[in-house]
Amino acid sequence: MNRELIYINKDSEIPLMGVDFLGVIDRGTNIIELKPLTLCNLKCKYCFVSANDYETNFMINSDYLVENVKKVVEIKGEFDIEIHIAPYGEILLYPELNNLLERFSNMNGITTISMQSNGLLLSPDLVKMLKIKGLTRINLSLNTLNEELACYLCNCNEYDLDMIIKNIYNLLDSKIDILLAPVWFPGQNDTDIEDIIKLILNLRKEGFTEQQTQIGIQKYLIYKTGRKLKKIRPKSWDYFYSQLTKLEKKYNIKLKLGPNDFGIHKRTSVSSLKYQKGDLLKIKIISRGRWQNECIGKIDDNVGIKILLKKPLIFDDGLVGTSVTAKIIKANYKDNITTALYPF
Ligand code: SF4
Repeated sequence: MNRELIYINKDSEIPLMGVDFLGVIDRGTNIIELKPLTLCNLKCKYCFVSANDYETNFMINSDYLVENVKKVVEIKGEFDIEIHIAPYGEILLYPELNNLLERFSNMNGITTISMQSNGLLLSPDLVKMLKIKGLTRINLSLNTLNEELACYLCNCNEYDLDMIIKNIYNLLDSKIDILLAPVWFPGQNDTDIEDIIKLILNLRKEGFTEQQTQIGIQKYLIYKTGRKLKKIRPKSWDYFYSQLTKLEKKYNIKLKLGPNDFGIHKRTSVSSLKYQKGDLLKIKIISRGRWQNECIGKIDDNVGIKILLKKPLIFDDGLVGTSVTAKIIKANYKDNITTALYPF
């Protein structure tokens, strides 16, 4: 299997907006979401983006990413901006994280820098670096306090829970907020979710504030392109929220978090999509994608597009540089993300 890593910089000609798995995502709020890489150290059985299975991985040059973010911040307004780093992979594998955080800390208008991580690569030295470079919050995807179950869910042989807990304390002592973000797999980690709630309550009893110790339970969702846990059926949103309400009453804790809890508000959208589902569009193909049937196209210098190749066509380097007419099959106005199909 081809396990190539494509390093994207300014010369790559790959725009950093418009593609779901890479670059800068603007959802029309004060949060700018970043996806600097696609590499992951785990291969979780429930991963909704199938990370660590990609035939081709991507990593973006941090200066190129910062340059793009700066333009977005200028359009949105240089105040109350949160940078949220949430790759389809693990951010602690990003060798330029240091530079990225430092540049954002020094950028006008950015008041919060948060990121998602599975936490397994944290170390005291790394926590020190995150503090020095200005990280505000880390969202940790901790699904259980049972090592055996964690190994099963994350598809790994070793899961050092003690080390994660120690690093949670290191983070909090360094004044970096934590948000534990377990995915609730009905019938699989029901009591574990309660253990995580108790962990948060204990941290609060020890003197850490609610702001420093948040919890955001996530619903297990199944995606066509993701991996699925055997025998686990996702429940309805109604059921999910009713369970959260029960747990809120049982533990006297707020579990249903909304935009207000994170200071999210509407802000100017950088690009407004001009296309609709079904439209035909002439696109220049500029790179392969993560999978054999995926590639990246360029709409203009700032906006890219994911193109799915219709079976039996698979990506071939000969496609790079060619202009094709593709059909828009997904135009997500909220996220400024589009996907097209070629041939159609
Ligand atoms: S769920 Fe997160 S940590 Fe697990 S494989 Fe996917 S991206 Fe990696």
